Amino acid sequence: MKFNKVLEDIKIYEAGKPIELVVREFGIAPENVVKLASNENPLGTNPAVAKVIADNAHKAHLYPDDSMFELKAALASKYAVQENNLIIGAGSDQVLEFISRAVLNENSSVLMSAVTFAMYEIYAKQMGAKVIRTASYAHQYDEFMEAYRMHKPRIVYLCTPNNPTGDGTSKEEVLAIIHAVDKETLVVVDGAYMEYAAAKDANYAISPNELLGFENVIYLGTFSKAYGLGGMRVGYGIAQPELIHELYKMRPPFNISTLSLAAAIEACKDDSFVKESIALHQEEIKRYEAFAKEQGFGYIESYTNFITYLFDETMDSTKIADALLKRGVIIRNLASYEMNAIRITIGTTRQNDIFFKHFLEVTA
Ligand code: PMP
Repeated sequence: MKFNKVLEDIKIYEAGKPIELVVREFGIAPENVVKLASNENPLGTNPAVAKVIADNAHKAHLYPDDSMFELKAALASKYAVQENNLIIGAGSDQVLEFISRAVLNENSSVLMSAVTFAMYEIYAKQMGAKVIRTASYAHQYDEFMEAYRMHKPRIVYLCTPNNPTGDGTSKEEVLAIIHAVDKETLVVVDGAYMEYAAAKDANYAISPNELLGFENVIYLGTFSKAYGLGGMRVGYGIAQPELIHELYKMRPPFNISTLSLAAAIEACKDDSFVKESIALHQEEIKRYEAFAKEQGFGYIESYTNFITYLFDETMDSTKIADALLKRGVIIRNLASYEMNAIRITIGTTRQNDIFFKHFLEVTA
């Protein structure tokens, strides 16, 4: 059986390990597994949203409202944009896929930072496009512009704050890059973790309506992180109507589920859960910073709901991640990104206590 040649160069996306795997492989009781690997909300799902999901269970036989009228109205009012500025995806992942299919082909290239969200590369390669990366994981203007001038990419990905490193790019720097590229290049501003960056430092807060003046810019957001709805798979893109209209040509009907749609609509009604999540996060991340300092290794200042610990040659991220996994603590090893580093989603106080305890034991 022959497959498309472009697939030869694609590495399958390695998702964070599920709790079920640790239970199965290491015989650990599910309640003792601590999952800090996929940047989910440790507070779980807003109880009001969980109730709406349960209350809508009897509608599972019905396709959702394909116009997503209510959700678009809610997002439009939240971000002060119009309904025709919005496209909804099964996670912002799906919007990334629409974008890639709409503008890339085997003659094009895409530009991204050295270490960033893995799906940009996978979607680009599916289209046969070439992937260009800057030298550093931080989104530095000079590096981006040098590569931009050399390769004239069709897409520039600005992931801010960045995953899996956690660093942020200020609004000023993002706007400088947007101003410097021509209108033929699509700039994707991926704000999957923007709620955390905005709460930490107003200079890093980018709201999508500030980007609507540019015909070649799309902002991506998601309900998966601060809103605690990773399992519902709802994300969105915000751009000028002409761009949204083209992306719609890529969208299958009913691309999010009836329950996901109900959940996202409810989640927009009240931001107290998001505020509570961010307040917990801001307290707990300080403990991770203090812990790294006490233990004498580095970390990347985080604008997200996770932190990246950087090790020197005396520590090995793969050994540490494997040893933690056997103890039921799931974190992300960044060895596959060629970094001797681990990424830990900031958990609840209890989960973080468990992480620190096991980390000390496995590195003793
Ligand atoms: N962008 C970034 C930077 C991410 O980290 C993620 C999820 N890990 C996504 C997009 C996709 O998120 P979702 O599909 O859950 O909206």
